[in-house]
Amino acid sequence: MPHPIGVMFTASDDLAHTLRDLTGMGIAHGQMAVPGGLSLDGADWRRALDNAGFTLHTLFGVYNGESYADIPAVQQTVGFIPPATRQEREARSIAIVDLAAEMGVPGFATHIGFVPEDAGSADYQAVLAMVRRIADHAAKHGITFALETGQETAESLLAFLVAVERDNVGVNFDPANMILYGTGDPIEALEVVGPHLITVHAKDGIWPDSDAPGSLGREVALGEGKVDFPAFLAILHKFGYEGPLFIEREAEDPGTRLRDIARGKAYLAALSAEV
Ligand code: MG
Repeated sequence: MPHPIGVMFTASDDLAHTLRDLTGMGIAHGQMAVPGGLSLDGADWRRALDNAGFTLHTLFGVYNGESYADIPAVQQTVGFIPPATRQEREARSIAIVDLAAEMGVPGFATHIGFVPEDAGSADYQAVLAMVRRIADHAAKHGITFALETGQETAESLLAFLVAVERDNVGVNFDPANMILYGTGDPIEALEVVGPHLITVHAKDGIWPDSDAPGSLGREVALGEGKVDFPAFLAILHKFGYEGPLFIEREAEDPGTRLRDIARGKAYLAALSAEV
């Protein structure tokens, strides 16, 4: 059975316009990133989704003050790791979970940031407790909590998932992030965290420049990077994942982005028909 093709996109004040672009390409599944500071207008969004016949699977929390400029910036600003913004981001995450419940969206996800290696550290324990509190709140609404992958090794992530001990917590597996952050081979990583899959991104990328320590790799259109998508799909199949493949394309130019999503959809549809 081929996977439905979905798209990861960012919420805006004109959701109807975004959805028209996607449904015009025959895409009716998605995940919506909710930037920090955007007011959470569930009623308007739900109406736009209903009108478009579009199914949202996940609301993705993105927080004020995050920077993806390079690896040190990510370490210092992203997710639940920076202590100064933990309280604010926990409250925002809870609000997004509540919005998901109101909109009938079954999943919440976010990049929690680089999980500290040392499980005994105060930061590790604080982040663990924060993930559990949000997960428990989500569970009351029957909502899952997926951690975006790629900023740590699969082994570190697996150890963290085991430590969390919550059935509704798993991963949103992004194969390109493993490459962009230089954290390991994405196919091997998927073998490790496969039992914890909730959703997956279809994104491609090339490795960081080894002459520029701390730099990130470059995200590129599907099929133009280093992700082995036939192997990726075969492993998804092995783990029984039948959900959508959510194309994530970060190109700044909207025209390029839409063109590459349409090409990516055709690329994945051809590959997934072969699995
Ligand atoms: Mg991603």
